[in-house]
Amino acid sequence: MTNLIGFPEEKLKQLFADWGLPAYRVQQVLSWVYHHHARRFEEMTNLSKELRARLAKHFVIALPRIAAKTHSQDGSVKYLFELGNGSQVESVWMPDESRTTLCISSQVGCRLACSFCLTATLGLKNNLTAGDIIGQVLAVNDDLPEENQVTNVVMMGMGEPLDNYEEVCEALRLLVSPHAMRISNRKVTLSTAGLVDRIQQFAGEDIHVNLAISLNATEDATRDQIMPINKKYPIKNLMECLKKYPLKPTRRITFEYVLLKGINDSDEDAVRLGKLLSQVRCKINLIPFNGFEGSLYQPPSEERIKSFQNYLIQKKFSTFIRNNRGTDILGACGQLAAQAMTGSTTP
Ligand code: SF4
Repeated sequence: MTNLIGFPEEKLKQLFADWGLPAYRVQQVLSWVYHHHARRFEEMTNLSKELRARLAKHFVIALPRIAAKTHSQDGSVKYLFELGNGSQVESVWMPDESRTTLCISSQVGCRLACSFCLTATLGLKNNLTAGDIIGQVLAVNDDLPEENQVTNVVMMGMGEPLDNYEEVCEALRLLVSPHAMRISNRKVTLSTAGLVDRIQQFAGEDIHVNLAISLNATEDATRDQIMPINKKYPIKNLMECLKKYPLKPTRRITFEYVLLKGINDSDEDAVRLGKLLSQVRCKINLIPFNGFEGSLYQPPSEERIKSFQNYLIQKKFSTFIRNNRGTDILGACGQLAAQAMTGSTTP
């Protein structure tokens, strides 16, 4: 049976039209599923009994199962989900004063093999469906009280989103649809390691979420070493593609830069980074490396991080040091996969 969660809105419209039903019925169903936490068709009380029965014949409403929750001292929570096929992924919920952000996964594992990332050690196990992807947001919302519902979504968890292109696009469409999740596209961010041809394809989609690029180096030799995908899409090609990216007038591309002691944190790197980004409307997030068992790298000293940031600020870049959330629960950037690897279900 087909999962209604993640089922494309356009296809649902077509199906309802084929059944001779008015378009507003689609909106009612989406509103029940994505807004009113309806997880059984009987709960959809403004639909006729016949329609509910018909829907139940065609669809199931299936969410990823929460297998474990780990609470950080900083208030963030890491969710371990079990998917329909038995595989596991993680999401991290991070509360802030004015918003609550959920970092979601797009793949079980990842094949891009970035050397500073724990997810990479899994390799690619499988791709998530659109239902698995948006289902993480719904399952977390079901688990939380009204005041803690997710307001912002970042696709920066396990996996390279653009390596699971079609399912990720479907999930994004439902996230920002005014009939489904209704999250503003300004509050949704897709992060990529820089798959140039996919970025070009994504630029042509009618999905105007924020774009973040995981850059992490300013020279090909270093980027080849820490992000092997750079051999296929070198920095020059990536930057050329981003200069042409059709950004809306008030938007900026975010560049994520994981700072690795002695690898990419020198004054020369800061200067090169400034030059590379000089022709792109952007902001820069500096992320001191988060260690994990067996990792090859160390974070730079606070002084080094500050000096790197100060140079970029001097050059008029909006540059932030991203204080990591959930480091005590391996919930920070590049740390997801620990539970998924061990299959731990500790509550
Ligand atoms: S950093 Fe992202 S793209 Fe690189 S291996 Fe990890 S999950 Fe994949």
